[in-house]
Amino acid sequence: MNGHTLVPHSYDYDLIVIGGGSGGLAAAKEAAKYEKKVMVLDFVTPTPLGNSWGLGGTCVNVGCIPKKLMHQAALLGQALQDSRKFGWQFTEEVKHNWMTMTESVQNYIGSLNWGYRVALREKKVTYENAYGEFVGPHTVKATSKRGVEKLYTAERFLIATGERPRYLGIPGDKEYCISSDDLFSLPYCPGKTLVVGASYVALECAGFLAGLGLDVTVMVRSILLRGFDQDMANKIGEYMEEHGVKFIREFVPIKVEQIEEGTPGRLKVTAKSTKDDQIIEEEYNTMLLAIGRDACTRKIGLDKAGVKINEKTGKIPVNDMEQTNVPYIYAIGDILQDRLELTPVAIQAGRLLVQRLYSGSTTKCDYVNVPTTVFTPLEYGACGYSEENAIQKFGEENIEVYHSHFWPLEWTVPSRDNNKCYAKIICNIQDNERVIGFHVLGPNAGEVTQGFAAAMKCGLTKEQLDSTIGIHPVCAEVFTTLSITKRSGENTLQSGC
Ligand code: FAD
Ligand code: NAP
Repeated sequence: MNGHTLVPHSYDYDLIVIGGGSGGLAAAKEAAKYEKKVMVLDFVTPTPLGNSWGLGGTCVNVGCIPKKLMHQAALLGQALQDSRKFGWQFTEEVKHNWMTMTESVQNYIGSLNWGYRVALREKKVTYENAYGEFVGPHTVKATSKRGVEKLYTAERFLIATGERPRYLGIPGDKEYCISSDDLFSLPYCPGKTLVVGASYVALECAGFLAGLGLDVTVMVRSILLRGFDQDMANKIGEYMEEHGVKFIREFVPIKVEQIEEGTPGRLKVTAKSTKDDQIIEEEYNTMLLAIGRDACTRKIGLDKAGVKINEKTGKIPVNDMEQTNVPYIYAIGDILQDRLELTPVAIQAGRLLVQRLYSGSTTKCDYVNVPTTVFTPLEYGACGYSEENAIQKFGEENIEVYHSHFWPLEWTVPSRDNNKCYAKIICNIQDNERVIGFHVLGPNAGEVTQGFAAAMKCGLTKEQLDSTIGIHPVCAEVFTTLSITKRSGENTLQSGC
């Protein structure tokens, strides 16, 4: 050491994690395994309407968990209808009670919040319900709800502050609109709802609200599910439209006015065409904004610690070790630039980072072939390339697309939705027809996709899929018998119903 004596700094903690969501909690618990002194700061800034929640971050409180449970509530409505054809007789009028559903969902979330607190305590991770911001090198200020400020130092920091819903910036939006941060705990049924946006959050929420029997309209600025395979995205849109969701395409809201207060009240929404000067007005009870989310990085003193962000997006660039430009500060999860915004991705990145820091591991988070599912009424599971991206990367002549419609056996007896479910794989001809894209529209798409994603990680080829024996009678077996190529133009529709 050049003859110098190393005087180790004395810090309060080995690791301070800012943000107790999917990524932050996973990383903190992992670090505690290696006997590190760890602190988690988690603080929820209330929504413009004043809602806040407990420990666990977006996924648990206002994301994956309540969303999937409300999607399930909607699917049960469909199952009730199907059940008559399977012989179930019930005479009473079937109605949905928003408050019963919301209370049940919130009770479950409450148990998860409690579980996280207990887990941190058991693992001897210090948790403070306080807002963290850098005030200088190796130092953060933690501000509690009551405004009490404390300073803490640490050898290393992990930023995992996630994102919050974006607002339109038009008159009336913050006063009268809700976001997904408000929806899942809304203390009244939203009634006739306008959903603005056309990505994951918008379509999932619109889907379950319509499935619960509400009058739902989606206002789409451009296309559905940007970044996803558009063949699949359009099929999702068609299915939703056939199942009662209205779409207003190529319009954006420009003004929201309250006509009447209430739970729900009445709003007048004015919107403008993106193509011409056409203006439309319509009344709704609720307007849900799902137009994207902003990284929580601008108010956490990153400049004081010297951490660079992408000024335009607020996202934090990191190297392949989740390290920022400041070597002792790391970042994971939704705030990362050019990474997927998914809970399992944040968790995996957090765990692997800590293992590299404290247990000598060299394993990096692999962001390739991450499977995902969009929980629209017709669920969509995907892994790997979209058809558009595969064509762009490999050239149309070098990819083979195999596809088929299918009819889940369970849907045949109630005679519904034939030729809506759809399976598609994209293979790289130059690489032994390796499967580089997997897409499925159908029931339990997430359950189906998870296993195929593991196979893709192992280098799945079309030949291996063909030699896999199917499980009968299940939807996923269609992937073992795909024979029609898109190039052939052959019909994939099944006749009869
Ligand atoms: P978060 O989970 O957002 O956690 C960040 C935490 O940090 C929050 O508690 C926040 O309040 C806190 N915080 C912020 N700033 C500070 C500060 N300065 N000091 C202290 N604390 C702070 N992903 C899926 O994989 N599957 C799904 O089905 C799915 N559905 C979703 C549905 C919706 C409606 C939404 C909005 C998201 C969904 N996601 C889903 C995405 C998923 O929720 C996120 O990818 C995941 O939560 C990201 O984890 P994170 O750790 O980066 O941040
Ligand atoms: P997003 O993917 O950023 O999409 C934003 C949507 O809003 C787009 O359709 C966009 O339209 C539209 N939009 C943006 N600005 C608008 C404006 N001013 N007026 C009208 N429309 C506007 O955002 P998100 O749906 O909130 O999802 C955020 C992330 O959460 C996703 O990337 C995803 O990873 C994660 N998530 C995952 C799941 C899951 O795993 N099932 C579920 C939900 C969320 P344009 O196309 O025209 O830009």
